[in-house]
Amino acid sequence: MPNTYEGGCQCEAVRYQFTGVLRDIAHCHCATCRRTTGGIVTTWLTTQRADFRWLKGKPKLYASSATCSRYFCGDCGAQLALFTTLSPDSLDITVATLDHPEQATADRHIWVQSRLPWIHLDPHLPEEQQERIE
Ligand SMILES: [Zn+2]
Ligand SMILES: [Zn+2]
Repeated sequence: MPNTYEGGCQCEAVRYQFTGVLRDIAHCHCATCRRTTGGIVTTWLTTQRADFRWLKGKPKLYASSATCSRYFCGDCGAQLALFTTLSPDSLDITVATLDHPEQATADRHIWVQSRLPWIHLDPHLPEEQQERIE
């Protein structure tokens, strides 16, 4: 049964909404996520682009690699979403910017080859050295 979820940045200039189910939720340990978010790990959920819309404001877009671009608030800098040309129909959303991030439980770790050695987070979850894109 699909639900509607909303989220946004710290300054509330940008808000978003999507419908679906909370699934495909991964703790990403890659260095690009570290440097763009300033966090030691970034947790993403994946939704379908067709099920997602911006409710308020216009995020800025930063191409962090040849295949990946990241939406962020140009005012407060919050990282909100990401898309990759490797999976063009989907959009990744930062769990941390959901209005209710406690509802989105991660199911795996990705890019653990880049994980900081002192992070011990949910050690029972499966791990992917990079990321397997279905
Ligand atoms: Zn903002
Ligand atoms: Zn990452």
